[in-house]
Parts: sequence; structure tokens; C-alpha cells
Amino acid sequence: MSKSSSAGTPLESLKGAPKSISVLGASGSVGDSALDIIAGSPDRYQVNALSANRNVEKLARAAIASGARFAVVADESCYGDLKQALAGHDIEVGAGSDAVEEAAARPADIVIGAIVGAAGICPTLAALKAGNQVALANKEALVCAGDLVMAEAARLGKPILPVDSEHSAIFQVYERDNRDEISEIVLTASGGPFRTWDKEAIASASIEQALTHPNFSMGSKITIDSASMMNKGLELIEAHHLYGLPSDRLKVVVHPQQIIHGLVAYSDGSLLAQLGAPDMRIPVAHCLAWPERAPANTDRISLVEIAQFTFEAPDSERFPCLRLARLALETGGSLPNILNAANEIAVAAFLAGEIAFGGIARLVEAVMDDFMRRGETGAAGNVSDVLALDQSARAVARGMLR
Ligand code: NDP
Repeated sequence: MSKSSSAGTPLESLKGAPKSISVLGASGSVGDSALDIIAGSPDRYQVNALSANRNVEKLARAAIASGARFAVVADESCYGDLKQALAGHDIEVGAGSDAVEEAAARPADIVIGAIVGAAGICPTLAALKAGNQVALANKEALVCAGDLVMAEAARLGKPILPVDSEHSAIFQVYERDNRDEISEIVLTASGGPFRTWDKEAIASASIEQALTHPNFSMGSKITIDSASMMNKGLELIEAHHLYGLPSDRLKVVVHPQQIIHGLVAYSDGSLLAQLGAPDMRIPVAHCLAWPERAPANTDRISLVEIAQFTFEAPDSERFPCLRLARLALETGGSLPNILNAANEIAVAAFLAGEIAFGGIARLVEAVMDDFMRRGETGAAGNVSDVLALDQSARAVARGMLR
């Protein structure tokens, strides 16, 4: 049930007028980066709609500070609190998943998809179906429903702008006119907090240890995914959808400094890379200004101070989630969706202290095996099938946890 009212929101993409930006997942870590870039250039960007799940206080603060027109919480039980927090302000309020989709669909120049997890699938599709360009951080939407999302973007005729730093790097050095000469794409990985740990130590790592990312401060789900390297696995699947390359031409290289974010190798032997500080505001700024570039108050690097870049091969033996994601990518069909659902349940269980860190990969593998054994990994033809399978994989994962 949506509780939003529906006053129209005019699109302000007239030449010279600020671009109107909606931020889904505005109360999160990527949401913070987005709102910071927007606030830094009020002449260029203006907030349209903002959404959160339950964090009413942060959403209301952001909506008031940014002059948003529409603020939405996904959790309907938070409607009254949000309404109260925004009383006296000229900001429409909505609640429920329909309202989040409405926020996504309101006319905007760019919708930033920064919801975490499969909850971002429908809002991403709603934004595209309404004709809005999407800047996507929510990699799970591509992992679970990549074919559907890419088909909508193609129909719209506007590329998905990647917010994920690796995919943004690739986007920036991807020569569209020479796409046939691309031999491979390389995603860099920090290696996470357990890069140098042995397998047994990783398996029994604590929540606090797993939440300590060496370079980035991010939401808890992606931080755990980075520690298990599932994040890099999800990014391989994301890159496959964004850039259309098969698994054997998508490579991962561990680069602990995380200054080089992604590379594209061409048939003439050239390797083009994008470098920058590990600061999510940089890819966000790139998306918002695209196809132009605009000044942004982001972190800078000194190559002389960094002095050394190092690279290592990833180790799927110590980080089995990377192997599982590769398997899901290569098997295709719905296996990436199943992998993602099982991983979301496993990460939540780890953060709740219900399973050990090593249990994350074990649970994901067991759920994938279960679906493969039953032959239930065929491609989903529509979003209802994607969501049904997501729910079914979550139920199997929860059953195994019990
Ligand atoms: P956070 O956990 O910090 O924020 C998640 C956002 O999604 C919050 O606004 C949250 O609302 C909202 N949300 C959570 N559940 C739901 C739901 N069921 N329905 C609607 N909204 C919901 O995550 P991050 O910002 O770290 O990550 C967001 C996405 O971006 C993820 O897909 C991640 O993989 C990707 N990403 C993140 C990077 C980073 O640096 N953080 C880098 C690259 C990609 P509430 O606060 O109310 O819970």
C-alpha cells in the first residue's frame, strides 16, 4: 500500500537549469556521498525525491536540508513518524514499496539507485520504465535481474551510469567506438581486512574484524561482502551485464592501495585505467555531471606520497565466495539471483551472531547446490519470477540455518 499523495513534479532539465536528482537509499553511505556532491553544487543539482527504509530521522534531516519535494520510507510503519518529522515543511511524504517506486518514477534527470540488496530491483526498474536515467550503486539489482534492467535501459536509450567505483572506472576508459577491440576488463579489489590471513583465521573472524574495511567506510552489508570477497564476485556479474563480456574476459586483481579502480585491456596491448582516491563521491560526481565533467569537492591523491602500487592474484581457496560468484556467472540462468539471496541471508545471520564468518560461504554454496540439484536455475522471464525465486532461495537459506 502506498500512502503518498501525487502532486506532479516538473522535470527541470531545461538548458542551464539545475539537474533534478532523486536518491533512493538516501540515508545510507552512498546516499551520503550523493547528497554531499549535490549540496556542493546547488547551481548544478537540485534534489527531487529521497527514500530510506526506516531511518526517519536521517531521511527527514536530509529532505529538509536538501529542499527535497518528496520523501519516502519503505517501511509503512514509519509513515506517521516521517509525517511528523516533516510537519510544517513543504515536502510530500510517502510510505511503502509502492511509494518508493513512485519516488523512482517521478520525472528526474538522474535517479541514484543506492538501496542495498534485492530491495533495489523494483525501484530500479520503475525508474527506467518511467524514462529516468539511472546511476546505479545497487549492484544486487544487476546481479538478480541484470537482463531485465539492461533491457529497460536499452529500450530507454540511456546507459546505466555505474556508481560502483570499479565499474565507473571502466565506464570512463571504455572506448565505445572500439568495443570490438576490448580483450578484457579488470576489476581491482582491496583484498579486504583478511587479505593476508590464513583460511582458518578467516573462517573464525569476528564481526568487528569483518566490519573493518582497509580503505572505505560503507554500509555493513557491502563491508562484510568485501571481507568475504563476495563483493568482488557480485561485481563480476555486474560487469558482465554492464559491459557484455563473458566470465573468461572479466578479471580480478587484488590492489590493496585501491587507487586504480578498474582497467580495460585492448587488442593492441594498451591497458587503460582510471585512478583516484578511494572516495565514493568521485564516481557519484562523475555520474551526476556525465557526459560532462564538473568540479567536485572530493579527495585527491599524491602519486609521490603513495609511491608504490602493488598487485596480487585473488585466492579463491581462502575466499570461496569469489569462486561461487564466478560459478553463478558462468552457469547463468537464475543462479546469480540464488547466490545473492543466500548471501543476503548469510550476511544478516553473521551480523546477528548466528553463524561464523566461514559459514557465509558454506550457506551460499549449500543453497546453490540445492537449487542446482533440483534443476531450478532456469532464467527468469519477468520480474515476478525474479522476486519469487529470490523469496524461495531466502526460505531455503533460512531453513538450512535452522
Ligand atoms: P547502506 O546500508 O549504508 O544504505 C542502504 C540504504 O538502503 C539505506 O538508505 C537504507 O535505508 C535503504 N534500504 C535498506 N533496505 C531497504 C528496503 N528494504 N527498501 C528500501 N530501502 C532500503 O548501504 P550502502 O550505501 O553502503 O550501499 C548501497 C548500495 O550501493 C549497495 O548495493 C552496495 O553494494 C552499493 N555500493 C556501496 C558502496 C559504498 O561505498 N557504500 C560502494 C559501491 C557500491 P535505512 O537507512 O532506513 O535502513
